[in-house]
Amino acid sequence: MRSIFFVLTVTILSMISCTMHTEKETDVTDDFQYTVEQFADIRILRYPVPGFDELTLKQKELLYYLSQAAIEGRDIIFDQNNKHNLAIRRTLEAIWENYKGDRTTDEFKAFEVYLKRVWFSNGIHHHYSTEKFEPGFSKEYFQNLIAEIGESEFPVSKDEINNTLVPVMFDPDIDAKRVNQNEGDDLIVTSANNYWGDAITQAEAESFYEAKRDPADPEPIWHGLNSRLEKEEGALVEKTWKVDGVYSAAIEKIVFWLEKALAVAENEQQKQVIEYLVDYYKTGNLRTFDKYNIAWLADQQSRIDFVNGFIETYGDPLGIKASWESVVNFKDVEATKRTVIISDNAQWFEDHSPVDPRFKKEEVKGVTAKVITAAMLGGDCYPATPIGINLPNADWIRKEYGSKSVTIENITLAYDKAAQGNGFLEEFCYSNDEIELQKKYGFIADNLHTDMHECLGHGSGQLLPDVNGDELKAYGATIEEARADLFALYYIGDDKMVELGLLPDGDAYKAAYDDYIRNGLMTQLTRIKLGDNVEQTHMRNRQLIARWAYLNGFEGNVIEREEKGGKTYFVIKHYKKLHDLFGELLAEVQRIKSEGDYEAAKNLVEYYAVKIERDLHKEVLERYEKLNLAPYSGFVNPVYIVDKDSAGNITGVNLDFSEGYAEQMIRYSKEHSWLPVYN
Ligand code: ZN
Repeated sequence: MRSIFFVLTVTILSMISCTMHTEKETDVTDDFQYTVEQFADIRILRYPVPGFDELTLKQKELLYYLSQAAIEGRDIIFDQNNKHNLAIRRTLEAIWENYKGDRTTDEFKAFEVYLKRVWFSNGIHHHYSTEKFEPGFSKEYFQNLIAEIGESEFPVSKDEINNTLVPVMFDPDIDAKRVNQNEGDDLIVTSANNYWGDAITQAEAESFYEAKRDPADPEPIWHGLNSRLEKEEGALVEKTWKVDGVYSAAIEKIVFWLEKALAVAENEQQKQVIEYLVDYYKTGNLRTFDKYNIAWLADQQSRIDFVNGFIETYGDPLGIKASWESVVNFKDVEATKRTVIISDNAQWFEDHSPVDPRFKKEEVKGVTAKVITAAMLGGDCYPATPIGINLPNADWIRKEYGSKSVTIENITLAYDKAAQGNGFLEEFCYSNDEIELQKKYGFIADNLHTDMHECLGHGSGQLLPDVNGDELKAYGATIEEARADLFALYYIGDDKMVELGLLPDGDAYKAAYDDYIRNGLMTQLTRIKLGDNVEQTHMRNRQLIARWAYLNGFEGNVIEREEKGGKTYFVIKHYKKLHDLFGELLAEVQRIKSEGDYEAAKNLVEYYAVKIERDLHKEVLERYEKLNLAPYSGFVNPVYIVDKDSAGNITGVNLDFSEGYAEQMIRYSKEHSWLPVYN
């Protein structure tokens, strides 16, 4: 479970020193170039990797192998997102590399932007809204480009490009949306992802996996997680993603690097983790995947850690099929002291939460949290990346073995640095006080929110004995994110935070509250087209909480809607009352989850989280446009430079940060692309 917490609003000017947040000694120089470029609604950034130099050569070597394993699966996510994505990407790249005509025209520039967007989204659908984006050039222009380049340069025949790919790219009705969550639609038929074969209906998909469920199994595997379901001669067949299965060519490469990593693993436990993962990639056996997850949870000693696999299910409207991703990282030892305090107090937080005792964990197990430094992003975490991750996702493993939760602080640092002085706060904050509060405490409060969300929020609470966890269906993910956010919001406003030294004083939490309300009611709307509803899980969750608090605190004047110079602002008048409201909603959301109350989940989400006030949306978009900012960011990776001696032994590993965006993308497509056009 990941939180793509909206960090765009933070424009901290100086980091504050307090008990837990002393400014770190890093090997990041002041002239590190955080911003790479901006196009469409996207800003490309670079993340520094502070602490890399102090690692041992063996650790660096391990990071190198894992980083290669992280890049090799890139084609998989393209194919998972839509079956035509690889054909389209390679066609566009062939043009970009071979076109000899005028590259300075508006149409060619629009073509380049389109290619950059396809790279960014791992396909033709917006990475966040999941809607297909329109090329900014005409179909005729595109067909002219095709005509000017030799047939052999393309991944498929020119006929196929013109007859199949051109309609997919240009006809707005074909594959319009990657993940459709619209209540009442057939979510499988209307979603353009490649997790479900053609002609499979939602009812068929649901009953197929319903039939596989074994309610008597205390350790239920996640059926369908690592396969595509297809219809063959009327029968439904699972096509597993594994060595010698679908995606074999890419998975073999991943396995190759994992086996290299095995030789330089830091300890036996980490070795075990890698062995299970390799075994799972070779067999596709989901019981082995569970063993891998349990071994991974038990690996607490290693400095270096990684995620590599079919992990998150946001790309499937039914939440069954997982996208391929990788995050390679190492522990930020200094900053982890903060999360250790949080996890050491996990039981206190659970015991004092405002939820019904029946829904609380009597014993909170294995909540481990750390702050990490990302060293390579891959698959569904590249170029757009989460800033916090909490895994594994299987409920029974979380209950029996706990979960591992991370905050990726070199990513939040990069966001923060890149946002300095961009005018965003000045536009959407009501007063100077609000701006100052945000500048003073925003970075601290945001990081703490992410820690609490990942480390305690997702791990808190329990289901009633006869509840499975999948009763909430399409609303489950939003409710789960709301639960984690509310847990964080509730406790950030508790005196305990100052007592534990996690926040410097009793005002710091107010910055988190201001930010949350401002974002949930207004600024996150900058990511949505006028006329559309809120669709994305995390955005739904944030609007749900903010709107619920606004409307339910209306009589008590908790949050006031103000107007100044024709501009709307939401201003918190009573922070403590808001804290109590968050507690109230947390209790209800936990009840819904624990009881599996589908109707209540549906009502809550549909009433608060989905619809947008049109006039306000229009206003926010206009105000935002004037700032000339991009609402989404993603990252280029560092390049691993490896020195070897004459015998081929690695003698040094260094990171280079100079690679550009297109340069990196085209290099990955040449050096790390293994899959056939159609899989
Ligand atoms: Zn989350």
